[in-house]
Amino acid sequence: MKAFDRLVAASLPAVPRLVVRKIADRYIAGETLEDAVATVRGLNALGAMATVDVLGEFISRPEEAEETATQYERALDAIAAGQLDANVSVKLSALGIEIDRALVDRTLARVLRSAGRHRIFVRIDMEHSGLIDETLDVYRGLRGAGHDDVGIVIQSYMRRAEADVAALADLTPSVRLVKGIYLEPEDIAYQAMPEINASYLRLLEQLVEQGSYVAIATHDPALLDGALNLIDRRGLGRDRYEFQMLLGVAEEARRKLIADGHRLRVYVPYGRAWYAYSVRRLKENPSIAGYVARDVVRTIVPGMR
Ligand SMILES: Cc1cc2nc3c(=O)[nH]c(=O)nc-3n(C[C@H](O)[C@H](O)[C@H](O)COP(=O)(O)OP(=O)(O)OC[C@H]3O[C@@H](n4cnc5c(N)ncnc54)[C@H](O)[C@@H]3O)c2cc1C
Repeated sequence: MKAFDRLVAASLPAVPRLVVRKIADRYIAGETLEDAVATVRGLNALGAMATVDVLGEFISRPEEAEETATQYERALDAIAAGQLDANVSVKLSALGIEIDRALVDRTLARVLRSAGRHRIFVRIDMEHSGLIDETLDVYRGLRGAGHDDVGIVIQSYMRRAEADVAALADLTPSVRLVKGIYLEPEDIAYQAMPEINASYLRLLEQLVEQGSYVAIATHDPALLDGALNLIDRRGLGRDRYEFQMLLGVAEEARRKLIADGHRLRVYVPYGRAWYAYSVRRLKENPSIAGYVARDVVRTIVPGMR
């Protein structure tokens, strides 16, 4: 069955949108801001915080970046109006960084102005390796301009991550630590899971040592154990860290962390651009792709197991 799952995941672009949508419901709040607000409200009721992401990273025109900024302004207004326990996560590609640096400076300034007015934190997601230098540069520029309520992401599969963390030490940044989701070549990124995991735990140690607030973003039981061990060993207070997970993933582990008194934030994507996001999530976890495909086949061939 594993080969079947991988085959389905690899051929996802050929899978009808309707089929992808069926499973996308697990990973996205919906297409509208109202959907996102309802999801965040539900999470808050369960004791989880949220970070809201407006889907829209694949853009080619400046107006699309401006539109993304407008969507973020609306989302920030809604978070404040609803007194939701949520912040926002932004992708610089969605705000136009691959079109023009001046454009992203302008759209990001709009988002930060709105976030600042409501005192809401903004996390800048990290994307493919071609954007890392520029993203770190934008981040440094913002901090230099006095925007302290902004955070960054470090990917443990990148060989450069340790050096990046060391170079950021003077800013004591708020860092979300992830494994990394984009396909990167071997010369710049670890490929084997044991290496990626070892790097993750080294970076976590390094960030804590440097005094950073760390968002431990993973569903991997081994990394969760390693992080809990470090929190315990170092006697880290709740003001030094939080856990983060994706909507629709590892809900049992999420419940346990909250029950044990840890702060936990769920990544809540919403918007019309749900297709690309969902395909990436499905490729990440082929067993789900296979599951959906089997489900669909079953509706056509009822006897299939
Ligand atoms: C809050 C948050 C923000 C993120 N932001 C970024 C970012 O800015 N840049 C970036 O490159 N990456 C980002 N990521 C993605 C991250 O890099 C990983 O690709 C992703 O978290 C999966 O890695 P993992 O640590 O959970 O370990 P894995 O070994 O991939 O997964 C561990 C287990 O978790 C479960 N699981 C993981 N993913 C899924 C899934 N999609 N569906 C169902 N089950 C799953 C499975 O049971 C799996 O065995 C983010 C992740 C989170 C949680």
